[in-house]
Amino acid sequence: MFGKVLIANRGEIALRVHRACQEMGIRTVAVHSTADATAMHVRLADESVCIGPPPARDSYLNVAAILSAATITGADAVHPGYGFLSENARFAEMVEAHGLKFIGPSPDHIRMMGDKIAAKDAMRRLDVPLVPGSPGALDSLDEARAIAEQIMYPVLIKAAAGGGGRGMKVARDASEIEEAWRVARTEAKSAFGDDSVYLEKYLDRPRHIELQVLADNHGNVVHFGERDCSLQRRHQKLVEEAGSPVLTAADREALGARVTAGLSKIGYRNAGTLEFLWQDGQFAFIEMNTRLQVEHPVTEMVAGIDLVKEQIRIAAGEPLGYTQTDIRFNGHAIECRITAEDPETFAPSPGRVNTYHAPGGLGVRVDSALYSGYTVPPHYDSLVAKLIVHAPSRPEAIARMRRALNEMVVAGIRTTLPLHQAVMDDAEFQSGDYTIHWLERFVASRQG
Ligand code: ADP
Repeated sequence: MFGKVLIANRGEIALRVHRACQEMGIRTVAVHSTADATAMHVRLADESVCIGPPPARDSYLNVAAILSAATITGADAVHPGYGFLSENARFAEMVEAHGLKFIGPSPDHIRMMGDKIAAKDAMRRLDVPLVPGSPGALDSLDEARAIAEQIMYPVLIKAAAGGGGRGMKVARDASEIEEAWRVARTEAKSAFGDDSVYLEKYLDRPRHIELQVLADNHGNVVHFGERDCSLQRRHQKLVEEAGSPVLTAADREALGARVTAGLSKIGYRNAGTLEFLWQDGQFAFIEMNTRLQVEHPVTEMVAGIDLVKEQIRIAAGEPLGYTQTDIRFNGHAIECRITAEDPETFAPSPGRVNTYHAPGGLGVRVDSALYSGYTVPPHYDSLVAKLIVHAPSRPEAIARMRRALNEMVVAGIRTTLPLHQAVMDDAEFQSGDYTIHWLERFVASRQG
């Protein structure tokens, strides 16, 4: 096992990885920008190294500085968390080239799945069902038109290098295709430096359901069931549940069997998540994330597993030590992503947190790097806390979340706590009958 792990991230996820390491007897190295010198991940780590000024490109994306930090502290492995360099194949290669272990999949798999067109191609070959669309990248607007006519509007033009909901445009009919083509390409170019786009049928009322997998270096691949992440705004998740209110055990098993067989064929290893849209009882693959997801805690709660410890054990070469039939699901879990944003306008609200009080009690988990007196810097993602609850049933989990949200205090900045309270109080959310479009309408109705 590793003696020391460098955590190439910040905020709650850096803490999350630190906690797993601590319990495993592994020392941790935090890296931080000058804006994060007093951050909780720096305070709790065994050692810390400043890697640059506040802008992420100069610090958390600064590969040379991170590798130097790993070298001078004598780390054995690097955990990338999510975001930043977590899906950068080149970074994974450089970590390994420096004689360190990258806690994640192989660079080849990161590269394959990072290109959404290549990922869909791979899944097609593995017999995983896909959203209908263009067979590859679109060469021209004429090709986009022809495919859209064939699969019928509405369609979505998506960036091959996409992420975070960027570079994605809907064309409801032929009159909108030119604009969608142009905007998606421009956005893709500026966000990812790559303007390749592809086209998909735009599903009008799907749910977003994703499957968590783990694979070791000894040919074992298992899944840990699904997460329902349909509550989204601008294609970004706000609330996640495990399991999905609409999926049966038979659906889960059928999808899981197909996916694990496929990943075993390509020799995938470490953690991964396959994202699907689910409509009319059918799954359609949209993308695979080759890293830990923000919403991984809901899976941990229902499956009784520590996914980060498993990632570390796998990277150290240990076999899983269990099979699919050993994995059981217990109860229901919900996560609310609490961000430093205005709950109605979503305007960013960084600044000083005068008072922070975390909720507690049975079945409540808070993953957060907040503390009273902490100043949320304006330079990074606005996520400040993940509130996760676990209970025997979905109604009990909702009741627990309402109670925990009421207890939680983040004073001094605006947060999305009131929005989460309103969602949990809503009868339609409680019924479980919602699609990926539900939250946008809910937010609009609150804005009046
Ligand atoms: P990103 O990598 O930017 O997050 P995804 O491909 O994962 O992009 O899609 C993000 C979200 O966008 C999905 O969860 C879903 O809400 C929506 N979306 C993506 N593809 C489609 C589609 N074909 N039809 C309808 N909604 C879609």
